[in-house]
Amino acid sequence: MLHPTAPDIVARIDALLPQTQCTRCGYPGCKPYAAAVACGEAGINQCPPGGSATIAALAALLRRPVLPLNPANGVENAPRVAWIDESRCIGCARCLAPCPVDAIVGAAKHMHTVLSDRCTGCELCLPPCPVDCIELRDATAPATAQPALNRARFDAHTTRLMSRSLERQRELDAKKAGASRRNTEP
Ligand code: SF4
Ligand code: SF4
Ligand code: SF4
Repeated sequence: MLHPTAPDIVARIDALLPQTQCTRCGYPGCKPYAAAVACGEAGINQCPPGGSATIAALAALLRRPVLPLNPANGVENAPRVAWIDESRCIGCARCLAPCPVDAIVGAAKHMHTVLSDRCTGCELCLPPCPVDCIELRDATAPATAQPALNRARFDAHTTRLMSRSLERQRELDAKKAGASRRNTEP
């Protein structure tokens, strides 16, 4: 029997998750959900993108009974990818940062497009779009089937956002320091 405090248990659970970071499990990403499953706070049946295959894998790892997907977390859909109607896209770039795997390309004031081989269908880009020009379409080769790549892309995305945020904070601090020096000069 695998004990919940066994070494690497969170990583071993996380390795079985699709890494879309969609938050449908009720947690802010796959790793937080893995931690919640490990400590018994969450059930093994809360991940709609992984569906029955993920539940079976978690049940086998944790020696727990297989359960049906919890309908409160959603339903198991056929794989989908986002598609942008470029004729309606206003190039606001609000969909870029929310995409956990950097599947959207485009620059401010230019139309944007989705790299369908990267897109996991997580839907996180839909709410920020002010003109509702992103929709989900059926996927032929779903990115949910490549969790290791999804995780690597999410890690790269998170690191880039953090370094941009630090850079902006440094610029702000430098401006404040400059203004303060000017105010104290005789
Ligand atoms: S893929 Fe599954 S575990 Fe990961 S955030 Fe989405 S619902 Fe949660
Ligand atoms: S393009 Fe949209 S649906 Fe696809 S991975 Fe990025 S945020 Fe998710
Ligand atoms: S949020 Fe919508 S309108 Fe803005 S760049 Fe993305 S797809 Fe285009």
